[in-house]
Amino acid sequence: MNTKALLSLTTSVAADFDYAEGVLGKSLTSFKIGGPVALVVWPKSRVALMSLIRAALVCGERYDVVGACTNLLIDDAGYDGVLIVTSKMRGSSLKGTVYTAECGLLVEYAAKAARNAALSGLEFFYGIPGTIGGAVTMNAGAYGSDVSCVLISSEAYNCETGEIEKLTLKDHEFGYRMSIYRKSPRRVVLSASFSLSRGDRESIDAYMEDLMKRRREKQPLEYPSAGSVFKRPPGYYTAKLIEEAGLKGARVGGAQVSEKHAGFIINTGDATAADVKALIDIITEKIRAEHGIELERELIYL
Ligand SMILES: Cc1cc2nc3c(=O)[nH]c(=O)nc-3n(C[C@H](O)[C@H](O)[C@H](O)COP(=O)(O)OP(=O)(O)OC[C@H]3O[C@@H](n4cnc5c(N)ncnc54)[C@H](O)[C@@H]3O)c2cc1C
Repeated sequence: MNTKALLSLTTSVAADFDYAEGVLGKSLTSFKIGGPVALVVWPKSRVALMSLIRAALVCGERYDVVGACTNLLIDDAGYDGVLIVTSKMRGSSLKGTVYTAECGLLVEYAAKAARNAALSGLEFFYGIPGTIGGAVTMNAGAYGSDVSCVLISSEAYNCETGEIEKLTLKDHEFGYRMSIYRKSPRRVVLSASFSLSRGDRESIDAYMEDLMKRRREKQPLEYPSAGSVFKRPPGYYTAKLIEEAGLKGARVGGAQVSEKHAGFIINTGDATAADVKALIDIITEKIRAEHGIELERELIYL
């Protein structure tokens, strides 16, 4: 990884991003797992973000654009490339009932901003720890709603053409935890706009607090994790399948199937990426053997 060469290509926007070398994945991810990342950059504007991507491409370096790193497992050996973290791109605006936010804004912040303006639609974001960019990419959702229910459009940087594109709802090809951004990783979410409806602030607030209460009761929020590890197979509940397979509480090293919610793998303190992967393999094989169901990972390996 030639940091100097890469950064020299972005001198025109040097003040517009922060960077650090050798940051541990465990200090970046919600899982608190992962070895050193060769270079982490935090662009503060879309110009800097696009410039950093172009520099990585010119230098032939591996790169990934990430948000809050709440759905990621970084390898124990680390990541030999540039991790572009959007958490410093947090602009947002409200025009009538249309809420627009930059990719790095936390979705919980968006939920609170909508509630404060007595606008309904983003309540389901409350309790999801990711960013707008991560949520659009993953079509994040909870409690019967997801991004595809409220999104109007997003602005994308096409890394191949160097153009900024406006994607309509249809262009996103949303599916369960799936979008065009996942199918075609050469696009990056710059911002997204959501269509909200006028509501009553107190009812919106009460609903959000109810959703948070349900999360606290059902999810192991007291431990580092990356949320649900697997997608829900059609017609089944993953946590129930895992529980019925006798794997609730199963451990490999410091990684454990949560006793509270078997769909979560938690880091009990010193879990490695290898522990998590080994536990995922055990679960996948047992569910395949017992039910003939192929569990699909929601968790992304970097
Ligand atoms: C306790 C807990 C609870 C959770 N609950 C839920 C839940 O209820 N529902 C749910 O759907 N998820 C849930 N998650 C998972 C996770 O929070 C979501 O998937 C979230 O949308 C990921 O956002 P992020 O910013 O952290 O993305 P990251 O983890 O940083 O990245 C995820 C993927 O998106 C890509 N990406 C990120 N930003 C961009 C961008 N700007 N442009 C292009 N690609 C980008 C990354 O490259 C990566 O492939 C939970 C996680 C935890 C830890």
